[in-house]
Amino acid sequence: MRFTPEKPSLFGETLESLKEQVEAAGFKGFRAKQVMEWLYKKRVATWGEMTNLPKDFRAWLDATFLIYPTKSLLDKRSDDVTQKFLLELEDKSLIETVLIRAPQTGVGQEKSRKTVCVSIQVGCAYGCKFCASGLAGFKRNLMAAEVVSQLMHICRMEDAHTKRAKEEIASFDNIVFMGMGEPLANYETLVQTVKILNADWGLNFGARRITVSTSGLAPQIMKLAEEGVAVRLAISLHGATNEVRSQIMPINKKYPLEQLIPAAKAFKDKHGRMLTLEFILIEDINDSIEQAKELTKIARDLHAHVNCIPYNKVEGLEWKRPSLRRQEAFVDVLRKAGVSVTIRREKGHDINAACGQLRLKTEKAMAEAEAKPSSPFGE
Ligand code: SAH
Ligand code: SF4
Repeated sequence: MRFTPEKPSLFGETLESLKEQVEAAGFKGFRAKQVMEWLYKKRVATWGEMTNLPKDFRAWLDATFLIYPTKSLLDKRSDDVTQKFLLELEDKSLIETVLIRAPQTGVGQEKSRKTVCVSIQVGCAYGCKFCASGLAGFKRNLMAAEVVSQLMHICRMEDAHTKRAKEEIASFDNIVFMGMGEPLANYETLVQTVKILNADWGLNFGARRITVSTSGLAPQIMKLAEEGVAVRLAISLHGATNEVRSQIMPINKKYPLEQLIPAAKAFKDKHGRMLTLEFILIEDINDSIEQAKELTKIARDLHAHVNCIPYNKVEGLEWKRPSLRRQEAFVDVLRKAGVSVTIRREKGHDINAACGQLRLKTEKAMAEAEAKPSSPFGE
């Protein structure tokens, strides 16, 4: 399904595309640069705040564009580490954005590294058996403006209670495409978004600090390798043999490991940066010592880092997280073989931080609320 908004949001424009439209409407081209400064450096949210722009130009902007195509519905703070935002789009679809603050202790100073996890689709078509985003099916692709605006919401919120050293600086350190949806299935939006984030007139945010997570669309991985977009790549592996992987990830039937691994290798060779293999540990599905040994082979072959993630329970699904002892035994196999491996101690577990869960819960609550009027968010 495609959604065509009444007015496009400014967050989907590049400096060039905006300049063209500004000039075609009879205004001076340099006004486009001023608009971008208000958006990305000063981070205003209304036309009225763009005080150095003439009134007739502001009226044209208002008639032609929206600023934010997303509205913040609620934010849930789980603890000091994770904050989860539910955003409503113009067509009333719901998406999620998560801010993760990882405390870092430096010499003589306390700092926290902030990572923003964005969504790129409403729902997901890939139907991985363990995932809440796949559970509700696919609704539509997001437009670049809808992805950029997720980040600008966070920037504005962080700006409000942190003093920025410089106007050009984003209020977070990393961006991960690990929210709802499959980034490589919304390829155009992904590339356009990275372009806007990278640009000096935009957020001036380096591609090295952006991680794209994919369930393994091999041809698109190859395409991205050639694109000249030097983002980091994380592959959601979750199964170290075709047999196990196909059981939980239907995509593996289309692009089995024989295709996925060479594509990942091509990406790595092109950009020279270490890949990450994500491996959710699910009890009795993929947490055996045999799987750990197979995973070791793949990780060595790709010189990849492995990130093990104890499964995060999704309501309505029967999968379980393995015991701590079993998790450790799995990781030990990799560690002893010299593979670089980390095990994520889940952040934001209590606020449904895994992919798509907050949206699913809210939609269910809203549907119930329509049936019997009460607060949709009351838990
Ligand atoms: N579609 C992309 C990116 C979004 S999913 C992908 O699949 O990589 C981001 C990550 O969250 C993926 O590694 C995904 O497998 C993981 N994930 C999904 N559901 C999860 C759950 N219930 N517990 C832990 N991780 C989960
Ligand atoms: Fe889609 Fe990724 Fe969830 Fe699979 S894990 S259903 S690809 S969002």
